[in-house]
Amino acid sequence: MSHFSEPDKPHAVFLPFPAQGHINPMLKLAILLHHRDFYITFVNTEYNQRRLQKSGAAGSKSPDFQFETIPDGLPPADSDTTQHIPSLCLSLKENGLALFRQLLVKLNSSTGGVPPITCIVSDAIMSFSVVAADEIGVPCVCFRTTNACCFLCYKYLRKIMEKGLIPLKDSSYLTNGYLDTNVDFIPGLNNMRIRDFPTVIRTTDTNDPMITFILGETERTSKASAIIFNTFDALEAEVLSALSPLCPPVYAIGPVHLLVNQLPENSLKFMGGNLWKEESECIEWLNSKKPNSVVYVNFGSITVLTPQQLVEFAWGLANSKKNFFWIIRSDTIVGDSANLPSEFVEETKERGLIGRWCPQEQVLNHPSIGAFLTHCGWNSTIESMCCGVPMICWPFFSDQFINCRCACTEWGVGLEIDNNVNRNEVENIVRGLIDGDKGKQMKIKAIEWKNKAKEATEINGSSYTNLDKLVKNVLLSRK
Ligand code: UDP
Repeated sequence: MSHFSEPDKPHAVFLPFPAQGHINPMLKLAILLHHRDFYITFVNTEYNQRRLQKSGAAGSKSPDFQFETIPDGLPPADSDTTQHIPSLCLSLKENGLALFRQLLVKLNSSTGGVPPITCIVSDAIMSFSVVAADEIGVPCVCFRTTNACCFLCYKYLRKIMEKGLIPLKDSSYLTNGYLDTNVDFIPGLNNMRIRDFPTVIRTTDTNDPMITFILGETERTSKASAIIFNTFDALEAEVLSALSPLCPPVYAIGPVHLLVNQLPENSLKFMGGNLWKEESECIEWLNSKKPNSVVYVNFGSITVLTPQQLVEFAWGLANSKKNFFWIIRSDTIVGDSANLPSEFVEETKERGLIGRWCPQEQVLNHPSIGAFLTHCGWNSTIESMCCGVPMICWPFFSDQFINCRCACTEWGVGLEIDNNVNRNEVENIVRGLIDGDKGKQMKIKAIEWKNKAKEATEINGSSYTNLDKLVKNVLLSRK
């Protein structure tokens, strides 16, 4: 079977924001559509495509799934580090439309058997794609890779500003208790404090470029043919129904990785999108540990730690006397002279393992894992819940605060660690989760969510059905 014989295949162009937490769910959805007989073009930035190749991830095993690139507009960088997210946002906002338009023209005039583009699936913070899709007359679906709750906050950002809650009067408002103020006027969001909102609102500048960026992206997303979230109806029912009247059709189609896991072996289900080289030796080490005995520590692809925070986490883990598996990326620590204390390394060599990047889904699914110390990125949060693993939450930026709040107060699967991390608190929370009653209760809750996520993604489950509807009603519809 070749694409040359099927010129009428629907052709979806995927445009993820160029960061790991966006590429992963977009790639999963692309794999799902490829399995439903779509021709896929997956667009990465040149920088990331090079990193994907280096880590051994980028490469398609199907003639109907191709990768294309666009430049990110940032000065050339020759390293394997996470790029500065606000700079990427602003650069793509500035340059993205022209670059993407050019690529679409190239794809549509291809003589190499590439079918004409029939739809675009774009990151919701690359919303120039809505304009580009309109120009070529195809539907554009915006994928918001945060949870629905975060998007609802963004929807009310203007109102929050009108009410004078932000910008902050001055930077003392970050520490004087103001962030604990309740925000009670957003339908669908209960018990919200200012500190729970995405961190873009922690600014003193009315013309903050990131506020302007988010306002613009949120408004343009409303012109998309549909908005999709990597969440499921049972998890965010109230928020999804509050969002519905404010948006184009909303589809909760997650957790997408669970949908992919059900695909047959001859699909592209094993295609990965890691920007770092994955180390899988850890699985053997985990095999040697008792069930529910290991704390898995991973702060995702963007979070950085100061040397002081590194040391507090390290001694907290060591003093807990529990097993731990800790991922410290090559670019996790601010400054170059930061090392783990040698006494810590010596003391924990039997019960601790440090790695640089791991197969997270496989790790979270491992029976030895008893808790996940996480920065609460949305992917990590939902992946942890799908594996029934309770979380110790240390949010760092963006939507991670709201994910933390949901995990701790709405879903009952997380305990928060103070931002100003301290070794005694880490030690106590780790012990409490691995040995204590609180840990047992949270484990029960996490397993309930795991079962609900599974239900949502099985045949006739809500996400399974929503994906069907998305394909039929939007992606295969003609504008
Ligand atoms: N991830 C991984 N191995 C690691 C660290 C992270 O595979 O060692 C994956 C993780 O499973 C998730 C993504 O990278 O899918 C990180 O996304 P998330 O939204 O949790 O955080 P971000 O990196 O965007 O802050």
